[in-house]
Amino acid sequence: MHSNKSIKDNQVAITFDDGPHPEFTPKALELLKKHNAKATFFCIGKHIEAYPEVFNDILEQGHTVGNHTFSHGNNFGFLKTENVIKELQQTNKIVKDSKGLTMKLYRPAFAVTNPRIKKAIIATQLQPIGWSVRSLDTTSRTAEAIFKRTTKDLSKGDVILLHDTSSKSIVVLERLLLFLQEQHIESVTVDSLFKIKAYA
Ligand SMILES: [Zn+2]
Repeated sequence: MHSNKSIKDNQVAITFDDGPHPEFTPKALELLKKHNAKATFFCIGKHIEAYPEVFNDILEQGHTVGNHTFSHGNNFGFLKTENVIKELQQTNKIVKDSKGLTMKLYRPAFAVTNPRIKKAIIATQLQPIGWSVRSLDTTSRTAEAIFKRTTKDLSKGDVILLHDTSSKSIVVLERLLLFLQEQHIESVTVDSLFKIKAYA
């Protein structure tokens, strides 16, 4: 039996939630560029409105963007279907109006899913994208602990969840990119990893 696996299959997808952030997203972009890595940024609509230049840089540097609700409110799991639809449509409209792109990918806010959110995702024709490696980079754990947790059982095809919202996450990203380079693992966008379309 011969294997069709090539070096190209040695890929993972790094994903960032909750940006764009005026300080940390540019730092993440610098590191990704330095390591010739691509990533996916699931953006909050109100942050895209607040930091359009940062959002523009994400796209200009060849990364993928996806929807992560408009306001990312703590009550997201309690919203009625019509209000979830509004949250998703509002963010897609901002990106459509400013960039001409219709985003297809959605990262569930707070990892919450319920029948109303499912209905809203169907109504808006978005595709939910989960993760297989949760770094827990927004907890009080140290960067070292987060890096170890993230890379311990890392295997090809994994989708790694990070947040471009803190200096700790940037430290973890830097170590992770070095680790991937040493292991000859390529970081690609989720749409490239799954061979799906990021935009309609
Ligand atoms: Zn989030």
